[in-house]
Amino acid sequence: MAEGFAFDLQATDGRARTGVIRTPRGEIRTPAFMPVGTAGTVKAMLPGSVRETGADVLLGNTYHLMLRPGAERIDRLGGLHRFMNWDRPILTDSGGFQVMSLAELRKLTEDGVTFRSHIDGSKHALSPERSMEIQRLLGSDIVMCFDECPALPAEEAQVAESMRLSMRWAARSKEAFGDRPGHALFGIQQGGVTRDLRAESAEALTAVGFDGYAIGGLAVGEGQAAMFGVLDYAPEMLPRDRPRYLMGVGKPDDIVGAVARGVDMMDCVLPTRSGRTGQAFTRRGVVNIKNARHQDDPRPLDEDCACPACRAYCRAYLHHVFRSQEIISSMLLTWHNLHYFQEIMAGMRAAIADGRFEAWQSQFHAQRQEGDIPPL
Ligand SMILES: [Zn+2]
Repeated sequence: MAEGFAFDLQATDGRARTGVIRTPRGEIRTPAFMPVGTAGTVKAMLPGSVRETGADVLLGNTYHLMLRPGAERIDRLGGLHRFMNWDRPILTDSGGFQVMSLAELRKLTEDGVTFRSHIDGSKHALSPERSMEIQRLLGSDIVMCFDECPALPAEEAQVAESMRLSMRWAARSKEAFGDRPGHALFGIQQGGVTRDLRAESAEALTAVGFDGYAIGGLAVGEGQAAMFGVLDYAPEMLPRDRPRYLMGVGKPDDIVGAVARGVDMMDCVLPTRSGRTGQAFTRRGVVNIKNARHQDDPRPLDEDCACPACRAYCRAYLHHVFRSQEIISSMLLTWHNLHYFQEIMAGMRAAIADGRFEAWQSQFHAQRQEGDIPPL
């Protein structure tokens, strides 16, 4: 791995793994969930609070930051860590995925992609070389290769063509990244839901050689069964001694299923986004705080949860501030959701280390089956 980086795989249980990624900015305990700090903030949270939930690493979005406030500006202001007041590891995506999902008037060529900003219509270009430059200007600790991700379902020929383009871009990303001690570069496996294409992609990436490997092109509408189908073989195509990162996943049961299949890192906007729309994830499933059943309920969201929303507030209050569109509603529910996601990760890490991950999973699913506490 890159100088200053190491991945210590400490225990396995079945295909599940637990370990530590050591970086110059601190350790990342795996399996790790990375909260998403799209525009230089994990929405509704102070960085110290995000850390208190147990997060070791944040994800930043190249696409959003390059458009506003701009990578060169962030660099002039001391880099993204200083700009957003988070001194621990940051992983940045390459911008490719958001260009495909958000930008307007995209034009894709062998060289890269040109597009118009979804914010103001201004013209921009991204290529493997420019993506590496932007992620360097941001000061990202873990840099992702620039890739293209087709939406599923797609024709196999189209997925193959896109994957091979991404593999050529991965080689260019590595070349442009160069030798940067203290900074790691991850390759991204593509190939949709086709085993042979996943194998071809893994082979192309390992031939170039990366510090870690992501599984891309999933959680894009294929459904959990199809995703798990790919995860039944894809992680093991990647080097055992490097971290494996499943991009954009997911719901709590997606995360647990992915870890059971050998994934070490994940990220998703779900806990933060849902926190702003009144959805809370609990060990007993999803609670919609906007429902009228909560308006007289003096009980906490989850009496076993140690987060500020559950320790100090009742469901009736959380319901009231959500209905009144008070800012504290987003703050409390986001905190709770991030806390719960990190509790899942901590629980899995301990269970894998102790060789009782199977039993942990049974309990996780059994508690969700119970559903929310009955109304008063
Ligand atoms: Zn809570």
